[in-house]
Amino acid sequence: MNELGLLECIDSRARRVDAFDCFDIVARTGEHAVFVVMGEEGEYRGLVTGRAAALFPKRIFADLLVQRADPPTPHDLPLGDALREMDRRGVDYLAVGDEDGAFAGVVSRLSIADALMHREQQQRRDLEALLEDYRHELEQKRIAAAVFDSTSEGIMVTDARQRIVQVNPAFERTTGWSREEAVGETPALLHSGVQDPAFYAAMWQSLQQTDAWEGEIWNRRKDGEVYPEWLHINAIRGEDDEIHYFVGVFSDTTRHLEMRERLRYLAYHDALTGLPNRQLFMDRLEQGLRDARRDGKGLAVVFVDLDGFKEINDTRGHAAGDELLRNVADALRSAVREVDSVARFGGDEFTLLLPDCDDTDSVSGVVQRVLEGVNREFALAATGDAVRTSASIGIALFPHDADSAESLLMAADNALYEAKADPHSGYRFFSASGYDRFVERVRLTSELRLAIAEGRITLDWQPQVELGSGRVVGLEALARWQRPDGSFVRPDVFIPLAERSGLIEELGIGVFEQAMREVALLSSEPLACDCDSLSFAVNVSPLQVRPALEGQPDFAAVLSGIARSHHVAVDRIEFELTESALSQSPEELYRVLLQLGTEGGRVAVDDFGTGCSNLATIKRLPIHKLKLDRSLVQDLAEDAADREIATAVVSMARAMDLAVLAEGVETREQADILRELGCDYAQGYLFGRPQPMSVLQQTL
Ligand code: C2E
Ligand code: CA
Ligand code: CA
Repeated sequence: MNELGLLECIDSRARRVDAFDCFDIVARTGEHAVFVVMGEEGEYRGLVTGRAAALFPKRIFADLLVQRADPPTPHDLPLGDALREMDRRGVDYLAVGDEDGAFAGVVSRLSIADALMHREQQQRRDLEALLEDYRHELEQKRIAAAVFDSTSEGIMVTDARQRIVQVNPAFERTTGWSREEAVGETPALLHSGVQDPAFYAAMWQSLQQTDAWEGEIWNRRKDGEVYPEWLHINAIRGEDDEIHYFVGVFSDTTRHLEMRERLRYLAYHDALTGLPNRQLFMDRLEQGLRDARRDGKGLAVVFVDLDGFKEINDTRGHAAGDELLRNVADALRSAVREVDSVARFGGDEFTLLLPDCDDTDSVSGVVQRVLEGVNREFALAATGDAVRTSASIGIALFPHDADSAESLLMAADNALYEAKADPHSGYRFFSASGYDRFVERVRLTSELRLAIAEGRITLDWQPQVELGSGRVVGLEALARWQRPDGSFVRPDVFIPLAERSGLIEELGIGVFEQAMREVALLSSEPLACDCDSLSFAVNVSPLQVRPALEGQPDFAAVLSGIARSHHVAVDRIEFELTESALSQSPEELYRVLLQLGTEGGRVAVDDFGTGCSNLATIKRLPIHKLKLDRSLVQDLAEDAADREIATAVVSMARAMDLAVLAEGVETREQADILRELGCDYAQGYLFGRPQPMSVLQQTL
């Protein structure tokens, strides 16, 4: 600890005064404990204490210095000696001289004590700070040591000559070498021989230039096993800027490598079936095309789509759906040849890549096997029963149909669409006319979207009559689409288009809303017939119905809400659903129909006699009418078989307490036969063509 000098104890309260000043000027200030009296040339003359000055007012300072004062005390006099000197002289102040002996200031017992105390406090603070630093450093060291010991990363410290000086427990665990064995060796202990000398040379160069290196390296454990590790080396330089140590930190990446492999696998495969996914299929297709071009060979892209998978998924649950997809994947795998690949494109859509296929014959063989493998019953563990599936298949050939991956997929998709449109076809090859239809469809769909948005879908109404009396009992709303050029698109064309493009929901609601509006308008008109007894039929597509989203009204609530807002009682509305729609519908549709039924709504089965009806379904639902399809009515007069079917339908309906309406009645003869059979109602050109409400109401 440095000795405190007198200069550091100078008392700031001393006041310099001129020897010939009259001290009463200053005496009044009182607070000055001591006056330093200076001569004419600014030389030190002596000290006068405040007390002495107070005792002799009106004197000049020079008078008070009766004897020549001692020269200033040398500044290097130890403090203890200075205090003793004050004692000896019986004073409380000493003047202090600087190095040259000139006056530098005054010290007092008080200022010395002050300075000592101040110094001591400072020292204590310094000490505490020092201790704090030290503690902190210790802490850091403890943490560092704990990290060193407990980290899962292996740490190896070498000196500048690459001798191992320290390793941690993780190093021992990973490499199998103990600390005792490793220390003193070089890292060559771990060399696997996987990396060549150039690798180590590059590592060394990086360390010399940037003090660091990082990368994957394959090392050998003590037991000989070679493993990958991620290694990070840092050079540690001393104050002399020379490298003193190298610290290598590594983690065994065997696990990471497995993860990486797994991730790579997942990125290219479908998790459910284990089949290659779209991405991998596209890679293979590109590769296949390169090979085919090089070898001058052909190649086929095949789309396989399950029919009615959505219904199976909806009615039997997702577990069953997943199981079925896995079974189909297996069936596809075993149907194709060794050289072919199968992929899951998404949902219930699978793709096949068949190299070496130039012509339709060689593809047909594979496709036939695929159909045999898929068009059958699959037992499902999830539900304990079995489910029948069938597939539709679309095929495109390179180079015949298209010459790029993209256009081949489009062609195959297009062929699939054609196959789907004809449910019994099984598979279709791409055809140019199919392609033209595809282009036309796309164009028409966007036109339809616009027409719906602009409210250009209108309604015609067709009367339904009671055969016995010829009285009009109901009206069926039929959608009409007239294009800006005046031409009409038939509903048989645009309804399926709307169903496939998802526009049907919007279209269906729009039609229903308009129907209710027109019904409300009709009710306000003075009519000849008793309008209050008329029922109003609207066609509903099963695809309009899907489970309501959380917090939103379901389909039944939406429909009855619309009816109510137009003051139309729900019990006057008849919802027409085709027989085929009812026989393969999701549970949700039944729920909606039941819901509408409890509100008084009625359901008619449209196109009855064309599908395979499930009587159990018909019994379950609030169905009150069967609409005998036009195809059965058409030839009634000529065809005895049709007459028999019609007879059977009518008697069955009687038994089930259902009304029967014959569709498409065009001749008086047909009407007579139907009436004799016991058919209650009819609809057809004979009684009235579909017409706008404004025209129709004149005849009512
Ligand atoms: P549908 O429900 O079976 O409608 C009866 C079809 O037969 C109508 O054809 C109608 O114009 C026609 N038709 C009526 N009487 C006769 C007749 O005596 N002879 C002949 N040859 N035909 C007759 P349209 O209007 O072309 O409708 C075709 C189909 O489009 C409808 O068949 C229905 O399934 C569907 N559709 C029409 N409007 C809608 C709608 O708003 N929503 C839904 N989902 N489907 C609709
Ligand atoms: Ca109908
Ligand atoms: Ca019909």
